[in-house]
Amino acid sequence: MSNDSVLVIGAGMAGLAAALLLASRGVAVTVIERAARPGGKMRELEVGGRRIDAGPTVFTMRWVFDDLFADAGTRIEDHLQLSPLEIIARHAWDTGGRLDLFADAQRSAEAIGDFAGAAEARRYLGFHQAARNIYETLEQPFIRGSRPTPLSLAGRIGPFGARRLWNIRPFETLWGALGGHFQDPRLRQLFGRYATYSGSSPFLAPATLMLIAHVEQAGVWTVAGGMHQTAAALARLAEAKGVTFRYQTEVAEILANRQGVSGVRLATGEQVAAKALVSNLDVAALHQGLLGEAVRGLAPPAPGTQRSLSALTWNLVAETQGFPLLRHSVFFSRDYPGEFDAIFRDGRLPTEPTVYICAQDREGHDGPPPPGPERLLCLVNAPAIGDTHAFSPSEIEQCQQHAFSLLERCGLRIGLNPETCRITSPTDFHRLFPATGGALYGQASHGWKASFNRPGTRTKLPGLYLAGGSVHPGAGVPMAALSGRLAANCVLADLASTRR
Ligand SMILES: Cc1cc2nc3c(=O)[nH]c(=O)nc-3n(C[C@H](O)[C@H](O)[C@H](O)COP(=O)(O)OP(=O)(O)OC[C@H]3O[C@@H](n4cnc5c(N)ncnc54)[C@H](O)[C@@H]3O)c2cc1C
Repeated sequence: MSNDSVLVIGAGMAGLAAALLLASRGVAVTVIERAARPGGKMRELEVGGRRIDAGPTVFTMRWVFDDLFADAGTRIEDHLQLSPLEIIARHAWDTGGRLDLFADAQRSAEAIGDFAGAAEARRYLGFHQAARNIYETLEQPFIRGSRPTPLSLAGRIGPFGARRLWNIRPFETLWGALGGHFQDPRLRQLFGRYATYSGSSPFLAPATLMLIAHVEQAGVWTVAGGMHQTAAALARLAEAKGVTFRYQTEVAEILANRQGVSGVRLATGEQVAAKALVSNLDVAALHQGLLGEAVRGLAPPAPGTQRSLSALTWNLVAETQGFPLLRHSVFFSRDYPGEFDAIFRDGRLPTEPTVYICAQDREGHDGPPPPGPERLLCLVNAPAIGDTHAFSPSEIEQCQQHAFSLLERCGLRIGLNPETCRITSPTDFHRLFPATGGALYGQASHGWKASFNRPGTRTKLPGLYLAGGSVHPGAGVPMAALSGRLAANCVLADLASTRR
């Protein structure tokens, strides 16, 4: 291979986004991926002869993907069939009550009025506006921009930057702020759960994360064939633009000389030359030396104590009865503080887990249930200790009992059959995503500084760029895709300036 190529290590969302943009600008790109397929965490599993999403299921921030496809000179509609959900999620408590949130905020307010009274509905509209204001303050200068410092962020925000920065409420916890917005503890719990979208605890994450509530309210889509189709479509398009994919190929070391990166050494010993490298691995892998000594010091430390959430998941095909599941349903635990204490303080599986279910054969409105067994992903949050503790079958069995009995108390019976059920634990996630302990979102967003601690795209080693959920602007599919675009833009700018 010519050393004019750019190498992308990892075909996760950020790696795919970077490869596609670079190839669309005429750069020769090779993606090296240790798995057999593209997507990384956006993976699917085969259970009972049917394919089920085993990673992300909630598709938000559609504009990010519209831009990705537009960069490549095409339209997302020509590659993926997206449908907006009318009801974004159904929420249930075993103490009583069921609440739907709608794509239309006014309908959500009406539903909250019926659920918790007119005063809470009014307070919800105030919360909705506050979440939107935070999102709008941060979209251009933080989410779309390169990694800022607190000072440069205030500058980027423009007039009254410091005051507007104060209004994003970085110094309050999300839980504390929600106590000011809602009196019904169930609503506080529901909106606090958005912290888990960045792998964090609502009791430790800043109130700024209420912007995630706005992101979801702004639209959730389903992807025909499952979320994994998003990765498959990006990989197909990248290939059509000339990207070479080498699957089941592991990078063992990044090679560097005095000028900067020179290529990689594969686990097979083969060396591949490159003039630039985009690493889509969790930055913890660099810090732990998994890609060699030359790059170990380039990533900030990623201490195990600050890891984001992992998960225990059940991918299953089963009959369900008694509860009208929607595409996204959440069943809340009775002890929310206890759940996060168990995970982040005690490093164990919660005895009272909140359970999220993606029912892949259902839509975002009530309709007849799918005939026969349906495809489900059930997920509970778990500590990211997969590198130091392998959860025993009895620990997993106990968590399963707690989770499925909560579902039963909420009215949902699932005909669980071990033959058509695949469990993924933090240890499995750690094997798939090395150096993470199974953490799925990089470092947790705990405290106001956390978002500024994620590394940016450029590193001190010329030619090495970082992308993915553990770097700026953050975790989740759209944010990882944005980091891939940022990395590609830096590579393009640096290649252009080298040529000049
Ligand atoms: C169960 C689950 C549920 C989730 N739910 C949501 C959701 O609903 N919505 C949402 O937006 N996000 C969700 N997320 C988070 C989201 O999936 C991730 O933030 C995002 O996909 C991360 O993308 P990434 O670019 O960081 O790459 P990753 O997905 O981390 O991919 C990195 C790639 O690098 C490869 N790799 C690693 N080491 C090497 C090596 N040495 N050589 C070559 N290749 C290597 C890996 O095999 C992998 O393919 C969820 C994640 C999981 C697991």
